[in-house]
Amino acid sequence: MSNLPFIDLAAQQRRIKPAIDAAIAKVLAHGGYVMGPEVRAFEGKLAAFGQAPLALSCANGTDALALPLMAWGIGAGDAVFCPSFTFTATAEIVPWTNAEPVFVDVLADTYCLDPAALEAAVVAVKAAGRLKPAAVIAVDLFGQSADYPALKAVCDRHGLKLIADSAQGFGCTLNGHHPIHWADVTTTSFFPAKPLGCYGDGGAVLAKDQGLWNLMDSLRVHGKAVAGDGIDTGGHDPKYLNTRIGMNSRLDTIQAAILIEKLAIFPEEIVLREAVARRYAAGLAGSKAQAPKVIEGGQSVWAQYVIEHPDRDGLAAHLKSECIPTAVYYPAPMHIQGPYAGFERGPGGLPVTEAAAGRVLALPMHPYLEAADQDRIIGAIRSY
Ligand SMILES: *Cc1c(COP(=O)(O)O)cnc(C)c1O
Repeated sequence: MSNLPFIDLAAQQRRIKPAIDAAIAKVLAHGGYVMGPEVRAFEGKLAAFGQAPLALSCANGTDALALPLMAWGIGAGDAVFCPSFTFTATAEIVPWTNAEPVFVDVLADTYCLDPAALEAAVVAVKAAGRLKPAAVIAVDLFGQSADYPALKAVCDRHGLKLIADSAQGFGCTLNGHHPIHWADVTTTSFFPAKPLGCYGDGGAVLAKDQGLWNLMDSLRVHGKAVAGDGIDTGGHDPKYLNTRIGMNSRLDTIQAAILIEKLAIFPEEIVLREAVARRYAAGLAGSKAQAPKVIEGGQSVWAQYVIEHPDRDGLAAHLKSECIPTAVYYPAPMHIQGPYAGFERGPGGLPVTEAAAGRVLALPMHPYLEAADQDRIIGAIRSY
């Protein structure tokens, strides 16, 4: 029996290889490896796709989360509310800024941030008085939109910034709107395995506000002087006139060139992912494996297809013996991991997160998963 891939990046590459080769060759020919023309061209296309006025590319999806926090001046004494059932980076960037994450539980059906739990956590932090609520990071976990209308209402009530961490969900919509419709910024990652990935590391922030874009542009290039700083550059490169402490977080031109080609087929790939998800749901109906639920009005980009099963580890071992790879996202939520265990949690703790961590199992998922291979996966699950 042949081993199935968990994510088949080679199938996508076979499809667009000539275009990718030509795009890379063009960058090698012009030599603008850092902040070359493809970077700005890609940012324009990305903003248009994501229904955002502006997009700013950066080195990875982790920096994409840090940049708006830094630009907003979030720091010591501030609370940033986020889920614990997520990839590390969502919480990791909060202590970078000297602020503290406050972990909030998720909804049992979608695994996205629970608006009621968020409200309770904000109220509790305010009452305790040690930290000042500053921002919320919602995660479009496994590819689907968080409940932004409800989350945005909480943020408005308490004057909080809202970040949509769409590293897994970039391209998802809710009632036809991308998360930026509600969020102050949307961030994403172009790590190769994400729905829109490049051939290395990359990330981006979608924004609505030119002033914020300028600040993040400064921060991604070592705090260079930008419009709004009121600096007379005297004809010097603003890169050497530093108006704040920044970092080095640029998207390589070659990656931007690759992403232009990948973005061109991304809408069609979302349709293909949806078809794969539907086949799974139909095939698993009535089995012990519980298919994932999508928020009403939501279109997931299906970064992962995550089932719940009462004997998750037994099923994973069975599938492995049938040459079918699976993965557990995430076996240990952030709030129980050593470096994060000391941070605060919403009132009532995170029982939904802790229960989900023991039951979830991600199945092979990518736009080019063939029906026959999928039938094999479904059959193996049903026979367990
Ligand atoms: C992948 C991911 C990130 C970080 O992206 P990198 O490009 O790997 O730095 C952040 N948040 C979530 C939810 C992710 O899945």
